[in-house]
Amino acid sequence: MSMLDQLQRQDADLFLGDVAQRPQGRYVHYILIRESESFPVFQTDGTLNVIRTQAGVGANGSADAGAVISRLVMFKRKQTSPERLAGRELLRLHGIITDEGERECVYNDEKFCKRCPDCITYGYAIGDQGAEKSKVLVDSAFSITRYEDSHHAFHFNALYEHGTMTNEGKTRSSFGEQDHIVPQVFFPSVVTLRDPTYESFLYVMGNILRTARYGAQETRTGRVENHLIGVAFTSGEIFSNLHFSQAMYDALAKAGQLTILPLERQHVLTAASRVARTLLAEEPVEQRFVVLGEEAVPLLNEVRALYQDRGRTQALLTSFDRKTRAYAEQHLGNGRKR
Ligand SMILES: [Zn+2]
Repeated sequence: MSMLDQLQRQDADLFLGDVAQRPQGRYVHYILIRESESFPVFQTDGTLNVIRTQAGVGANGSADAGAVISRLVMFKRKQTSPERLAGRELLRLHGIITDEGERECVYNDEKFCKRCPDCITYGYAIGDQGAEKSKVLVDSAFSITRYEDSHHAFHFNALYEHGTMTNEGKTRSSFGEQDHIVPQVFFPSVVTLRDPTYESFLYVMGNILRTARYGAQETRTGRVENHLIGVAFTSGEIFSNLHFSQAMYDALAKAGQLTILPLERQHVLTAASRVARTLLAEEPVEQRFVVLGEEAVPLLNEVRALYQDRGRTQALLTSFDRKTRAYAEQHLGNGRKR
């Protein structure tokens, strides 16, 4: 039996049959390590987002776990917007939403349709015309390693159009400078979907797996690889991203793997599933179904195979669309086009 079939089994009771209006106490957490693969820029007002925090959890961790370090921050929106847009792109490819006509849905606009899988899953707010809360919960993510080891300031010459620094006899003295995150910086991150249906579970997971560019909204130049460590179905919310990063810091320090930079990917990923399992065990929630590390590989392979198959993807999205439209009609009065 495939893992997706197992998850879907009636007695597993992991998914709601329909989109729920009121919170039902079901959560699925996608446990990720986001890794920079080129030079992404997560910035506000021209500078990278940095914050000082305790290095480790501090309780019984490494020697310097109580030290304070500066960490790079990947704000919430910088994570969700690209993933949301990856989902909308897929909906458009499959004709679930369109740019005009009956299935029109326009992002960040009063023409949000208020009934497609994207609007109902990621939410919207349109002035006085109503709002739907996002069912996808994300928090800021923090680099494991310190800022000083995780960035590089690139200087670039602000050339004139003809390609030199000199124009009409005058040499330009201004140089640009842009601070970039370097490759192989790791951001532990949990994406949470509340009250999942089978379709929304796969939809959000697919969006995470297919998104590879994050950073400044306008350019999205930075490659980021999302390593999905596993998924956890629980009865409530779990540890924060900061706590996850601090526990990762402790675990890597303890294993002597924090001193050589960049961190070795396999060390990070191996530690991540172990750390996540330990942290999950400390949470006052029921663990309904959890796969981490090696155990999660069959699930990942099945989901990748699903998205490689156009027909199965179409069937999934069509079924999801039917559910979100039924929800909109029943609870929001948005069933038909205005
Ligand atoms: Zn929509």
